[in-house]
Amino acid sequence: MKNLESKYCLGIESSADDFGIGLATFGGEILANKSDSYIPTEGGIHPREAARHHAEVADTVLQEALSKAGVKAKELTCIAFSQGPGLGPSLRTGATVARALASYLKIPLVGVNHSVAHIEIGKLQTGATDPVTLYASGGNTMVTAYESGRYRVFGETLDIALGNCLDVFGREAGLKTKKGLPIGAAIEQLAAKGEKLVPLPYVVKGMDLSLSGLVTAASAQLQNHSLEDVCFSLQEHAFSMVTEVTERALAHTEKKQVLLTGGVAANKRLQAMLAVISAEHDAQFSVVPLQYATDNGAMIAWTGTLAYRHGLTTPIDESIVKLRWRVDKVDVPWIQ
Ligand code: AMP
Ligand code: MG
Repeated sequence: MKNLESKYCLGIESSADDFGIGLATFGGEILANKSDSYIPTEGGIHPREAARHHAEVADTVLQEALSKAGVKAKELTCIAFSQGPGLGPSLRTGATVARALASYLKIPLVGVNHSVAHIEIGKLQTGATDPVTLYASGGNTMVTAYESGRYRVFGETLDIALGNCLDVFGREAGLKTKKGLPIGAAIEQLAAKGEKLVPLPYVVKGMDLSLSGLVTAASAQLQNHSLEDVCFSLQEHAFSMVTEVTERALAHTEKKQVLLTGGVAANKRLQAMLAVISAEHDAQFSVVPLQYATDNGAMIAWTGTLAYRHGLTTPIDESIVKLRWRVDKVDVPWIQ
């Protein structure tokens, strides 16, 4: 039996605009985390174009990841892939690469839930063990915590994701995604120069929240107020809503850790709001480092090792992607 540091899982992430490949040892060391992102020429993610991008870069990203890790394909123990949730064409491209590798190498395939993977890599990177997690990205916004064998959803968006809310507003305001400067980051910079709080819809329903009306209202306010003030107001409203839901989950579960992940985790204003509620509940607050907070292959590789060790492999004929695979439908037997 090899020791944990010389058993490797390769993980493929392709649920939306990013194509990533990571390598993790079974002991929890991340040996490589490479990716290439599809940047739309205009508008939001076009699923077929994203899938075409992923197919084009897969070979290069794979070679880069293996060479960074210093691991040969034949040394791999298993191949993990993001099986859902996400965009069909994107997910299918990653799944096809994963199936081909697993069949060729004659090693098991491990289908990983994308949202579970975000939480697990976040815990690994920050040392959090049992957090309330706010996962806020371009496609997801949910507050989860572990309870009785699964990550349970304590609150989530009823319509669009927080990152998508920022991106759609940003495009209305004429901002464009640039390499190294996502729209959310551009809004953060503009918001830092805003001063006036423009009233906008604040919609928290029970434990859930709705963001689409906020985008419409903020876009309309661009006629009446400066871009900086509207960016500032949009952030204040949207971030207060997700922070309120996170605080309620914290009060209910009485957990002592708060974890922030997803691409929106990069935002300093959101971090500051969550730091305040965490302190008020004597909870330790951690932000997942950016390369592990946005979509990445390492999170799939690491979660693949956890699943594999509990016998959770995926036969090829059950490896169909699951576009709406909810986090609370997934058993996580590695948590005791
Ligand atoms: P992901 O879906 O995890 O790949 O993250 C992408 C999302 O994060 C996009 O919606 C971005 O606009 C958003 N994002 C990236 N950086 C920031 C930031 N500094 N503030 C707010 N949102 C951000
Ligand atoms: Mg992304």
